[in-house]
Amino acid sequence: MDQVDPRRLIPRTNDLLALPAVRDARTRLNERVIRELVRNVQDQARRGELPPGQVEPALLAAVASRSATSLRPVLNATGVIVHTNLGRAPLSPAAVEALVAASGYVDVELDLADGSRSRRGAGARAALLAACPAAEDALVVNNGAAALVLATTALAAGREVVVSRGELVEIGAGFRLTDLMESTGAKLHEVGTTNRTHLHDYAGALGPDTGCVLKVHPSNFRVDGFTSAVPLHELSRLTADQGVPLVADLGSGLLAHDPHLPDEPDVASALASGADVVIASGDKLLGGPQAGLLLGRKEIITRLARHPLARAVRADKLALAALEATVAGGPPPVVQSLHADEGQLRRRTERLAQALGAPVVAHDGRVGGGGAPGVPLPGWALLLPEGLARQLRAGDPAVLPRVHDGSCLVDLRCVPEPDDHRILDAVRQALASLQAANAGRAG
Ligand SMILES: *Cc1c(COP(=O)(O)O)cnc(C)c1O
Repeated sequence: MDQVDPRRLIPRTNDLLALPAVRDARTRLNERVIRELVRNVQDQARRGELPPGQVEPALLAAVASRSATSLRPVLNATGVIVHTNLGRAPLSPAAVEALVAASGYVDVELDLADGSRSRRGAGARAALLAACPAAEDALVVNNGAAALVLATTALAAGREVVVSRGELVEIGAGFRLTDLMESTGAKLHEVGTTNRTHLHDYAGALGPDTGCVLKVHPSNFRVDGFTSAVPLHELSRLTADQGVPLVADLGSGLLAHDPHLPDEPDVASALASGADVVIASGDKLLGGPQAGLLLGRKEIITRLARHPLARAVRADKLALAALEATVAGGPPPVVQSLHADEGQLRRRTERLAQALGAPVVAHDGRVGGGGAPGVPLPGWALLLPEGLARQLRAGDPAVLPRVHDGSCLVDLRCVPEPDDHRILDAVRQALASLQAANAGRAG
């Protein structure tokens, strides 16, 4: 008898598309994506990688696991709180709720009382002003870099930004604040040296060409040794005297002083020290969505808000909603991770260690995201074989551990406690697949 070519047994496209589970998936996935999944399983069967009888179950599994976004949630087990590669700050429940509410039509630029157009983001502005009473006005833009470009462009395009050579920061991925500012036509007037800048350096630089003086917090590095910088409160006496705006770029996003981070600048203190405009990021230590915050003197904030560039860097409604809820809501995860109780972290880590038979080691967490460089946050970690890191990243849920000194460290500081059991499951799965891989290699 002739053998039937197994490829003729591969289910037809129309039959697969008509399966109830595939039809139901059309609320989540569009036609093109669904057809791509169908084609993939058929192609696998044509190549002989899948028996024809397995095409249907394979398609159902592919449809069930496919979501419309390729972004995958990750459990952050690195101990680094503001992790840039993981999207910086996880949002608070209040911010998530606000984000979902704002995903439909919202009154972001509408006064519902009289139906007229209103100031965009009035709620976020009001929340920021309530949290920072020293600020006369506030403006929210797309991110911290945009805030810096807007401020220096509006205050100093065609003129000079006076800045210390010790504060010419590269903020990551090759982006330099200096290039950013010069890209829109401000000229940098560098003063002082890498390690030392004095008040007379600034004083000598101020003149008719000065647009503003910029003080940048070197958020992602530290210079130790023979150093000297001019504190804001001294610099502000000079700039106020000369009638020159003083802009302070904090990099991070503390609205008020945090005793856990004694050297980290905050908006309230910077304003109290005489800065005219303070720039902060929404998704660093503030623990909110990506956003650039500009807080300070009314007259200057108004000038920035009216500059044409403000329209190009305006914040989107989702960010405005999440930012307002971050500022007005309960403590966001970033703040909880920062203040995590060391004893509690130890107990949680030991519970997992016992279940896994793995050792616990002391491990310092970090603020990360260009904040509080060199400030250790004492805590604990599970010590696992280095080879496990890859399995953990590829697992479901994906877990990002820290790989250091030939080992894989799992730090629970940034893991919400209810997710501890998911970490445990993930480590068990990873150990099993590592063993299987090793057995495969040995056999
Ligand atoms: C991070 C940082 C910025 C940029 O802020 P983003 O919100 O990331 O755009 C600007 N200045 C300093 C000092 C920073 O650390």
